[in-house]
Amino acid sequence: MKSIRCLLKKGKEKPLQSQHPWVFSGAIDQIDEGFEAGDLIKVYSHDEQFLGIGYLNPASQITVRLLAFQDIPIDEAFFAGRIREALELRKRFLPVDTDACRLVHSEGDFLPGLIVDRYGEYLVVQFLTAGMEKWKETLVAILQKEWPCKGVFEKDDADTRALEGLKTHVGLLAGEEPPQLVEVRENGLTFWVDVRFGHKTGFYLDQRDSRQLIGGISRGKKVLNCFSYTGGFSVYAARCGATETVSVESSQPALDTAKLNFEKNGLLQPAHQMVKDDVFQYLRSCQDTFDLVVLDPPSFCKSKHQVDQAGRGYKDINLCALKRVRAGGVLYTCSCSSFIDPALFQKIIFGAAKDAGRRLRILAKTSHPFDHPINIYHPEGEYLKGLLCEVE
Ligand code: SAH
Repeated sequence: MKSIRCLLKKGKEKPLQSQHPWVFSGAIDQIDEGFEAGDLIKVYSHDEQFLGIGYLNPASQITVRLLAFQDIPIDEAFFAGRIREALELRKRFLPVDTDACRLVHSEGDFLPGLIVDRYGEYLVVQFLTAGMEKWKETLVAILQKEWPCKGVFEKDDADTRALEGLKTHVGLLAGEEPPQLVEVRENGLTFWVDVRFGHKTGFYLDQRDSRQLIGGISRGKKVLNCFSYTGGFSVYAARCGATETVSVESSQPALDTAKLNFEKNGLLQPAHQMVKDDVFQYLRSCQDTFDLVVLDPPSFCKSKHQVDQAGRGYKDINLCALKRVRAGGVLYTCSCSSFIDPALFQKIIFGAAKDAGRRLRILAKTSHPFDHPINIYHPEGEYLKGLLCEVE
């Protein structure tokens, strides 16, 4: 693939010199003509020093995403090398009794725009940018070679595809069609994953370690799991000896799968309730109290302009949740928005605690597991944070 060139404005080379992989539209001074979205591009400073090579999309605020900071060919061998490195990491650290994990995590694996998730014998992929979309066939062939699997399935249904000028696509790319529900193992538990209609690629793989953490403190506890999706935290809690669990979720298909997950793990009992409701409404009308409340909402903040409003939303839901925690109980609260950084999130929980008049102690701070690595030069990659708090 041929590459074109762009020059940055004076002073805009610094982030790239520290290997930050994004160039925003405002940093670009000149760009060669005759390109299309997704083409390779070499980036130079105003005084024509080479900075890196990546791919561009003039329709995106992030106009260039960098693939390498040396002047090397970007070809099949390049992608095969990067994918092998990503797979090696997973082979080294994947917990036993687990066959569901993220194999390629976009910027975290130096492959911006590419997501590859493994669900048992199937791979589910997302090409989030026009640049990665161009390499789709090559990438699928590499994956099949490097990680033998039954099938490679594409789950590109995110609205963000439209911002990149791409159509959504959900369907098979290679091998066999996955079944309607794929069975996976996570830390010895079994879950059903709907790779076609589920959220993201089917499962919130990024909460694996936190589900384990919550399971570990659930014995003998009455647990409320808010925004439960397919019951992840509840199944762990129930399996680890929680006396009762209540899973609250607004999506009926997610709750249907949650029921199957309880059943599959031998836990389908009246003590484990599933409630279809809006969590805000549920918490406002609920009179009950719990030993452990899990709060894992969807992102309230999709852009930096929404930070204040989202902050109020997080504070409100945490205030409502705190009222449902018994004295001496625990709140596990999360935010998956990269625009709400860990310090700000803690400040929001501080505000909620103060308004609730409760004394809180942070027992643990959590993030995504090793298979969602954070490239230290790309702090925006740290999106998930959780606080495990003792509530007096
Ligand atoms: N903790 C889950 C993932 C939660 S994702 C796990 O470990 O798998 C957030 C979930 O909140 C989604 O399933 C979404 O359907 C649900 N949701 C979003 N808004 C909601 C609302 N207002 N009330 C209830 N559920 C909601």
